[in-house]
Amino acid sequence: MASPLVTLNDGRLMPQLGLGVYKVNQDIAVQLVQTAIEIGYRRVDTAALYDNEAEVGAAIRKSGLDREEIFVTSKIWNDRHGYQEAKEAIQESVDRLNIGYVDMMLIHWPCPKQDKFVETWHAFEEVLETGLVKSIGVSNFHQHHLEKLLAAANVVPAINQVELHPQLAQNSLRHFNKQHNIKTEAWAPLGRAKFLENPLLAEIAESLGKSVAQVIIRWHLQLQNLVIPKSSNPDRLAENFDVFDFELSQHQMGIIATLNTETRIATNPDDMN
Ligand code: NAD
Repeated sequence: MASPLVTLNDGRLMPQLGLGVYKVNQDIAVQLVQTAIEIGYRRVDTAALYDNEAEVGAAIRKSGLDREEIFVTSKIWNDRHGYQEAKEAIQESVDRLNIGYVDMMLIHWPCPKQDKFVETWHAFEEVLETGLVKSIGVSNFHQHHLEKLLAAANVVPAINQVELHPQLAQNSLRHFNKQHNIKTEAWAPLGRAKFLENPLLAEIAESLGKSVAQVIIRWHLQLQNLVIPKSSNPDRLAENFDVFDFELSQHQMGIIATLNTETRIATNPDDMN
């Protein structure tokens, strides 16, 4: 079964479930992305930081898919903020991927202490007009970063990719994003495997004949999050994509909501430079 498609605020369609490739080494990246494509994945989330854009692009070129059948996200790193730097960084990602255009380019972190993300965004808006990137968005933006950006922006970010899992449901930010027609995307959607032993989740998974990872991914889909679990294991890749034939009840969604303590497992974006 294919992933559902989500319509972005610029009218483009994006698969709701994709593959994240953070910490996927270059030597396995081509094979892994090819395997994911065979399973049915049509979206890959990479970044300049991950040092595997070239391999992701190579796998896509080898896949035989038409370019428009696959959706690729990349991100510029924190040392490339500023108008000119950002333009060059986007061009470098486009060149490394070598698949013609990039579907979605993100500012990886706002780096508020640098105080340049508005300037960086103006570069993104300008590159958008060239067609080198088809959609633009942000990552790790708190509401207050978005408010500052939106006050100066000509283009509203299509997505905001943030740390989001049952322990950090980001309810307030998801509400703000929705009000502004920005899709919320969940990174570390499985909490980096931290919750796979959770007894409440295990009980729900057992009652459905599913794994805990599948239950968490289903929770994201039903909350309308975009979601990009990562695995280097082909069986788990298949397991994480096999989530379209069941539904969590309102009661089960309510039980998962009790796990939310709004606590991060990674860095707070205000502290990242
Ligand atoms: P994740 O929550 O996807 O967890 C990945 C871990 O879970 C891996 O160690 C894997 O072994 C394990 N796992 C995956 N599927 C499993 C399964 N079915 N059963 C058991 N274990 C399983 O964490 P992540 O990789 O940090 O996040 C996913 C993606 O989000 C990344 O690959 C990257 O693309 C993106 N990301 C973005 C940012 C950002 O700042 N924008 C930061 C981190 C990650």
